[in-house]
Amino acid sequence: MPSPFVTRLASFQHEERLAVEDDARSRTFAELWDRAQRVRLALTEGAPSLEGRAVAILVSPGALWLEAFFGTILAGGVALPLSPLYPPAELAWFGEDARAAAVIVSEDQHERGALLCEGRRVLFAETLADGPRPEGDAAPLEPDDVALLLYTSGTTGKPKGAMITHANVDVQAAILREVWAFGEGDRLLHALPLHHLHGLGISLLTTLLAGAAARLLPRFEARRVWETFCGPNPPTVWMAVPTMYQKLFEAFDAADEPTRARWASGARGLRLATSGSAALPVTLAERWRAVTGTIPLERFGMTEIGVGATNPLDPSGRRSGSVGLPPRSVEARIVDEAGNDLERGPGELWIRGPSVFKGYLGREQATQDAFAEGRWFRTGDVAERAEDGYLRLLGRTSVDILKSGGYKLSALEIEEALRENAAVAEVAVVGLPDEAWGERVVAVVVAAPGRAAECAPEVLRGWAKERMALYKVPREVIVVMSLPRNALGKVVKPELVKAIVRGTV
Ligand code: ATP
Ligand code: MG
Repeated sequence: MPSPFVTRLASFQHEERLAVEDDARSRTFAELWDRAQRVRLALTEGAPSLEGRAVAILVSPGALWLEAFFGTILAGGVALPLSPLYPPAELAWFGEDARAAAVIVSEDQHERGALLCEGRRVLFAETLADGPRPEGDAAPLEPDDVALLLYTSGTTGKPKGAMITHANVDVQAAILREVWAFGEGDRLLHALPLHHLHGLGISLLTTLLAGAAARLLPRFEARRVWETFCGPNPPTVWMAVPTMYQKLFEAFDAADEPTRARWASGARGLRLATSGSAALPVTLAERWRAVTGTIPLERFGMTEIGVGATNPLDPSGRRSGSVGLPPRSVEARIVDEAGNDLERGPGELWIRGPSVFKGYLGREQATQDAFAEGRWFRTGDVAERAEDGYLRLLGRTSVDILKSGGYKLSALEIEEALRENAAVAEVAVVGLPDEAWGERVVAVVVAAPGRAAECAPEVLRGWAKERMALYKVPREVIVVMSLPRNALGKVVKPELVKAIVRGTV
């Protein structure tokens, strides 16, 4: 059976509709297919086979990125997208870990990628599609072949390379275009990193495999995003992580009244705005509602499983603070520590379905440990189920579930409660080892501009004591200028804890 991912892509090969555009280039589906074929030839001709081998892609987001990506896939390679923002040594680490056979690099990334390129075949993205178009068919690919090697975002430890198959990519896109009603007329505005599943699979590939178009920005920039909402050819879909919503509102608040009115009217033109990768603070959801009339559609996903739960497309069914329901063909269980099912939880969320990955590259033990009998993937996230099935996430067992004085506490819940205080701009709650309490609750806070005094430890603790159960009140409050975040804007809590212990926050 051929790869359903490639078959789907090939079905658009004669379409003269726009597929992708960036600041410098645009490609129709037909052009994209044609150029990807030329890239395929350049990758395979006179060189050792790339079948099943990782090809690192270190190219700035845009049309050239996609040509390199689809060319790699057609050549039977495993696409390993890397972030143009990673430091050189880290790029080299990913190349090693993935045992990458080749690197496709854009000229502006070549210097940063020098260490990664060392000892590997190097091809330049700019000229890769300039050669002839191949005759004959592409490498025979099976649904179970690995298409992508995507690294988890490293929130709980060193990132792990997740092997995502052709079937995974295809089925994920099919599920999402159904639940989010994608059609050929959609236009995605894209400003997410392409080296994680959110930006690549859930946003970009879902759009393209629906035959719809994507506009790729070189990087996220709040004002630019608002302006792009306002057209020409305004987007219909916007997908983001919570920190992007936060930055959008910082820019909004700094703008003058006529600009705000224009931006708001542009944003109201979107048919769908989503949030994922981390919990969307209720305050941000409500601000989006004030501007556009609806809260963003929040969904839960993981590199390893794709989208595990989503709020409904119909805004009246969306629930703030919840990630909704598993989409069709995805099953969810909530289990206790012995693996027994719990009706409502809280307990660990287990997921099963066709979008669940194949395993971690080169980490057999980690792969084995990640699955329970029957190929249930242990997410490591703690969830609760409402009576009508809606799921709520309480955080990861390893960094967000704190054990203090015999209680199990959800850091996400405490963070949400502290955000009710308007002087708190950002907050991360962590557990620090404590002899008396097991772990003590520590809140690390970024104060809103000019409101540091209200975040002083005793003031904030006093405020919290009046509003939360005493055992949830942070025993320590640390005010900082910024929190350590990864490319998806997630707070890297192990790093934060280390810094607190070292006294360097
Ligand atoms: P690593 O596994 O390397 O430590 P990571 O878990 O952050 O990092 P990803 O696969 O990018 O890597 O992220 C998946 C995690 O993101 C989930 O396990 C969950 O904790 C979190 N997450 C995703 N969407 C949401 C959401 N809507 N609300 C709360 N948490 C979310
Ligand atoms: Mg993870």
